[in-house]
Amino acid sequence: MVRSRAVLLALVVACAPRADAPGANAPAPVCPVPERAAAPQTPADRPVPGRTFERFVLRDVVLIDGTGRAPIPGTDVLVEHGRIAAVGPDLPARGAVAIDLSGYTLLPGFIDAHTHLLFDPPKSYEAGVERQVRETEADAVLRGVRNARATLLAGFTTVRNVGGGFGDRALRDAIADGLVPGPRMLVANHSIGTTGGHCDDTNALRPEVFGRMPDLREGIGDGPDELRKAVRYQIKHGADVIKICATGGVLSQGDGVGAPQLTLDEMRVIVEEAVRAERKVAAHAHGNQGIREAVAAGVHSIEHGSILDAETVAAMKRRGTYLVPTTYVGRYVVERADAGALSADSAAKARAIAPKMRRSFKLAYEAGVSIALGSDAGVFPHGDNGKEFSTMVALGMKPMDAIVAGTSAAARLLGLPDVGRVVPGMRADLVAVEGDPIERIERLEHPALVIKDGVVYLDRTGKVPPADQESS
Ligand SMILES: [Zn+2]
Repeated sequence: MVRSRAVLLALVVACAPRADAPGANAPAPVCPVPERAAAPQTPADRPVPGRTFERFVLRDVVLIDGTGRAPIPGTDVLVEHGRIAAVGPDLPARGAVAIDLSGYTLLPGFIDAHTHLLFDPPKSYEAGVERQVRETEADAVLRGVRNARATLLAGFTTVRNVGGGFGDRALRDAIADGLVPGPRMLVANHSIGTTGGHCDDTNALRPEVFGRMPDLREGIGDGPDELRKAVRYQIKHGADVIKICATGGVLSQGDGVGAPQLTLDEMRVIVEEAVRAERKVAAHAHGNQGIREAVAAGVHSIEHGSILDAETVAAMKRRGTYLVPTTYVGRYVVERADAGALSADSAAKARAIAPKMRRSFKLAYEAGVSIALGSDAGVFPHGDNGKEFSTMVALGMKPMDAIVAGTSAAARLLGLPDVGRVVPGMRADLVAVEGDPIERIERLEHPALVIKDGVVYLDRTGKVPPADQESS
């Protein structure tokens, strides 16, 4: 007993945020956080459109199982009660509904580690401001209902929603309860950052508009004590993950895109508090200094990671910090800037950051940093999440590595032990695409079949028969 406590203490000390400066020789690994079982999803009993069977077998697929193994032709996958029961050639499956999928490739349901389901791209900067002062959280949640469905039908069966508000939690729970169709969600609620920083939605608006300064209720605080309370407040209201704004951003007004915002001390406190509550920390970070400090503070993932140097990449690799590179949105915001849909400030930042983001992605990938797919959907229309696969491949990633990033690697980052791979025991989250996505990665953008927890939400194959249970 005494000995095991000593071991535990040693572990805690080893992963605690370190007092030494960033760039120290041997940074401790990021603090481990126990895996969290995602909320059970119960659509079969509820009024969600979807077809399900007690037992069914998908026959004769080319299997890409999400682990990085080469595709396996001639494979059957048996699903029982929403879980994968067996995988192999010519499975005996007497009594199971057989669905012949020859000509299709079967993959794990995709995972997007960076979405904003309650946001949509406004037509213009001014339209975005108008929305901000007019809309209530209820408006945003109803938009999220539509976006959740679009995301699921695009093959994304799990998302990590990193910053939207308390509507995030409402949408997560409505999906888990089977009230509306959508991906399984982990949510951050409000993102946490500094007054006037990227996470402060009230920048450049008249102070009287909202009647008070944003505070920890909206994730805004200054100094370790306020930020500790902001973390506790988001968790109190159901956050599964803590999202922070370590640096400025493209769409926020008045802040340098790469400028550091939260201090190293502030981020250490945030990570300490989150890890104590068994939550991971995702850090929005574009500039190298902010990224380096976030890594030193022990965050579990760097979101965007636009300006990386070799030293920062090496620190991420040593600590096991994930990169969620959001490569597609980098291109998309430049198109928005060219179309005149961003403020002048944001347009200039979008154009400045895009080439740096591409270089940094290559640097991190070639160095072997763990990469999880994250799209930043919400900045672009939901349902286009799959374009992140092809954008990463266009930047030099191997197609199989991109698939791993959007399946098992993202599952590891999210701490979900039973999604992201097609192996027995996993939840039956499955996507089929026509033909070979390794040869043409864009095929992942057009799934022919989407199954979550054994429920068929999309069937363009025409091979799925009428179901044991069907509702609309
Ligand atoms: Zn984002």
